[in-house]
Amino acid sequence: MTSLQLTGGWIEVVAGVMFSGKSEELMRRVRRAIIARKRVQVFKSHLDNRYAGLFAISSHDGRTVEAIPVDSSAQIAARIDPTAHVIAVDEAQFLDEGICDLATTLASRGRRVILAGTDTDFRGEPFGPMPRLLAIAELVDKLHAICVLCGAPACRNQRLIEGEPAPWDSPVIMVGAKESYEARCRACHIVRRRDETQGKLF
Ligand code: ADP
Ligand code: ZN
Repeated sequence: MTSLQLTGGWIEVVAGVMFSGKSEELMRRVRRAIIARKRVQVFKSHLDNRYAGLFAISSHDGRTVEAIPVDSSAQIAARIDPTAHVIAVDEAQFLDEGICDLATTLASRGRRVILAGTDTDFRGEPFGPMPRLLAIAELVDKLHAICVLCGAPACRNQRLIEGEPAPWDSPVIMVGAKESYEARCRACHIVRRRDETQGKLF
């Protein structure tokens, strides 16, 4: 984190691969905002249910802040508590581009907006609204995981389908598929590309 002193509203982005600790960092910031007696709302995308029910932080007055599941930026806009000082959004990569305008509007109204998301998809390409969010944010932190193959800092999401690296042309978001992910470094990251002339994957 920078030592920049921010006043009024602003946008923070916590980016990085899966398993890099984005949710942990988001919870840390939310917990500290609660200690500072700020009113905090947390939203998270529906698509990721790894932490369903786990994201619950108790505030000093005994209330609990729980993540509100959403599918779109419009759902966040509809559920914003006008008295909230801090708006935190986890898994922002699954949201539509409208999250960029919403974050801008909230920041210009004096809110601290914290967004955590995976900045690259399984191919290593920019993911959903993350590139714009990274551009418009005052503060950006890019976290790394540990490459499960070589132990180097990991910056890529390795998608595996039945244990094999996924082909390039598989969809960016696979819902309910038998897929798994590993954190890997650039050198160990594999995307099988379709050879158009041969029809083979390599
Ligand atoms: P994210 O939100 O970025 O997916 P989380 O905050 O949910 O990350 O999880 C981070 C935790 O994942 C780490 O503290 C660590 O315990 C665990 N973890 C599992 N695999 C890895 C890995 N390959 N590299 C680093 N941490 C890992
Ligand atoms: Zn590696």
